[in-house]
Amino acid sequence: MKIAISIGHGKSKTGGYDSGAVGGGYHEFNLAKEIGKYAGEALAVYGCDVDIINYNADAYLTDRINYINKGGYDLALEVHLNSSTSSGSTGSEVYYKHGNKNGNTLASAISKSIASNLSTKNRGAKIKLSGGVDYFGFVRCVNCQSLLIETVFINTASDRKKVVTVAGQKKCGQAIASAVANFYGLKKLSATSSDVEKIGAGDTVKITGKSYATGQTIPAWVKLRNHTVKSVTVSGKVLLKEINSYVWADDLQLVKSAKNGIVVGSAVTIKSGSVYGGLTTARGKIIPKEQLAPKKHTVSKIQTNNGVREALLSEISSWVALSGLTEV
Ligand SMILES: [Zn+2]
Repeated sequence: MKIAISIGHGKSKTGGYDSGAVGGGYHEFNLAKEIGKYAGEALAVYGCDVDIINYNADAYLTDRINYINKGGYDLALEVHLNSSTSSGSTGSEVYYKHGNKNGNTLASAISKSIASNLSTKNRGAKIKLSGGVDYFGFVRCVNCQSLLIETVFINTASDRKKVVTVAGQKKCGQAIASAVANFYGLKKLSATSSDVEKIGAGDTVKITGKSYATGQTIPAWVKLRNHTVKSVTVSGKVLLKEINSYVWADDLQLVKSAKNGIVVGSAVTIKSGSVYGGLTTARGKIIPKEQLAPKKHTVSKIQTNNGVREALLSEISSWVALSGLTEV
């Protein structure tokens, strides 16, 4: 599903900077954008196509609304921090379109998830009306399901301290994402998911391991040449055509895929919504817009990481799933 995560404030109506509410020297915009970024990264792990809007304070409220309404999104969330004139206000609350039953349910779930993950008060799902229509422009004017999330109170020290660290911002973002994933029944992409690409019949491979599936040592000359995959067993044993021998899939490196034309040396572009692969903490993080098509990258290696067939792109020294690449 396609999700817009909009960051509240940042750019004012007249074009200048709008910090949003302030507290303890922190700006609402600066904290909200990090929470929104981590929510987006967490949702990408569920296979969502996520756009973070206004992360760079480059879109005023009406720009954000117009962008979302033209973008074909299924869900739009705007991230804020609350502020109160009375001291000591605490907890999360989420605003939805009045009369929208799904909006009410999802808003309740997000508010509850933030409160339980950050150990703050759950103020719950809310509507705010003005003259019979929804008060918040984001809730009122965005056409798809839209929610305005007041994560915590920036002017209450005990609330604020929960989201001033990267760890806290991640926790809050992940709390939002898990509630969304739960509501829509989304599953995390993993090695067991059916769309994972694995080594298959017809692929060209090189052997990186030391021994055959039988345990016998593989001679050097066999490792130097390319092999064609004849078949793969469910237990992960791969029959290589030229030598008529079984080798474990983990001991193979893909040279050329039979399923798409991407090979080592191919020029590719990265599709929007793709995430980093590899085996570091960057795995699952959204690849920034400036690295996406039309920017070209070169494939320097192809292998299976965590069960997903991925390409190492030399320009950014990063792994990206083959399914996220287009040959150019
Ligand atoms: Zn705000």
